[in-house]
Amino acid sequence: MEAIEQIRVALRQQLLSDRLLGVTSVPVTMPPPSGPRRRRVAPPRAVDAAANTERLRVLDETQVKGCRKCGLCETRTQTVFGQGNPAARLVFVGEAPGFEEDKQGLAFVGPAGQLLTRMIVAMGLTREDVFICNVLKCRPPGNRDPLADEILSCSPYLREQLSVIQPELIVALGAPATKTLLNTAQSIGKLRGQFHEFYLSGVTGDGPSIPVLPTYHPAYLLRSPEEKGKAWADLQMAMARLGLAPPQPNPASSSRNT
Ligand code: URA
Repeated sequence: MEAIEQIRVALRQQLLSDRLLGVTSVPVTMPPPSGPRRRRVAPPRAVDAAANTERLRVLDETQVKGCRKCGLCETRTQTVFGQGNPAARLVFVGEAPGFEEDKQGLAFVGPAGQLLTRMIVAMGLTREDVFICNVLKCRPPGNRDPLADEILSCSPYLREQLSVIQPELIVALGAPATKTLLNTAQSIGKLRGQFHEFYLSGVTGDGPSIPVLPTYHPAYLLRSPEEKGKAWADLQMAMARLGLAPPQPNPASSSRNT
């Protein structure tokens, strides 16, 4: 008998005896593929979304909702924690709630939020794919700029949100978000369009960090639509970084009501 036939007969006998013993399946170990390994665009992340949801809920319920660390607690209708995917690969950070956000308790639901939604959709994503929040969790009266002491009081909440979610990328919307995350006084015009690092420790250069891509705030883009091209270029950089498919032509620049 040829060797190959001997192996076939032996294998058949083994399988028949296994079946008699109640074995119904045989594990097969495949050898690893030979040749160069394919690089993954985005490494798989071991994220426990349920645990993140719970940690964010506890942060909101036990600390943010009742916060009285600065004067904004006197004028707010309610705090605005932020919302979206607790295991998001991408987090957008804005400045502070405005009129609509203060009323509804949700981040970016006013006119700037509508443009942000269109920007997210243009990236091939939905608001449910990403997490959206602000540096300040309370609305400054009349939408004035956040004060330094308000940012100082509130930014630990943002830091905690980001250390729970651990996104692969943060897009900082506008100057206050960018300056807070990067601990810098440089202008958004200088910082946008390049990747920087947010240090979870709060100290530049110390410990783990998350990439930050600053871009213009959607409220600014509503006032200065001629800058939308630059913001779109920034979002395309974000997409490339996350390995998202190249987008179709920019819907923001061709839209008449943005
Ligand atoms: N502007 C912001 O920065 N955040 C919001 O939530 C709304 C408007």
